[in-house]
Amino acid sequence: MADKTIKIAYLYEDLMNTYGDSGDVKIIQFWLKKQGYSSQVANISLGDPFNAFDYDFVFFGGGQDFEQTVVAKDLPRHKETLSAYIKAGRPMLGVCGGYQLVGTYYKTNSEVTIKGLDILPFHTVFKADKRMIGDTRYLSEWGEVTAFENHSGQTYFDDQDLLEPLGKMIAGYGNNPQDGVEGLRYRNFIGTYSHGPLLKNRNMATAISKMILSWHEERISTK
Ligand code: GLN
Repeated sequence: MADKTIKIAYLYEDLMNTYGDSGDVKIIQFWLKKQGYSSQVANISLGDPFNAFDYDFVFFGGGQDFEQTVVAKDLPRHKETLSAYIKAGRPMLGVCGGYQLVGTYYKTNSEVTIKGLDILPFHTVFKADKRMIGDTRYLSEWGEVTAFENHSGQTYFDDQDLLEPLGKMIAGYGNNPQDGVEGLRYRNFIGTYSHGPLLKNRNMATAISKMILSWHEERISTK
């Protein structure tokens, strides 16, 4: 019988869960269930072992600067597995703080630099002039998305050829106040500043559940 259980890894669920981001996981479970798949969520927290390739989807939510500092100390243990997973095009969603930590660094308000996983070439800096907060709207490859953002980090790509934005802003800030773009897409890694949660947008939930199911078929067939 086909394996109809989707395995989801929620990185640091207990620390990285601002503004309803846990809703992304619940919504994806709902849509998977509609398609006949049950799902299990593993909270991978401080000190827990983790092999990304054991999962069909990795989720990394947003967090306050303090929680990000705590998580960043534990995170380097997972660099190798997450780097291989992302570069192999397996599905992962990073929201806000979780997005920032996949890049090289996040320089915070208090002049502390939080080291990221350094998997993809982008960085984030606090700039005193603006906290980016409010409703957002942007056009992605899957159509229009509406969400909510609340961050002080401004994200900049360091390799424009390798990284594409997730969408073009219609309203709100997105990655930073200058570029007019939101989030990042690299293969099946999506980084975003969208809370709300993001996956209340049916087009995004459909796109991500397709990525998950296609990787799931491949993962179980090679077991
Ligand atoms: N602490 C980060 C910032 O303010 C991320 C915020 C969040 O995840 N909501 O930019």
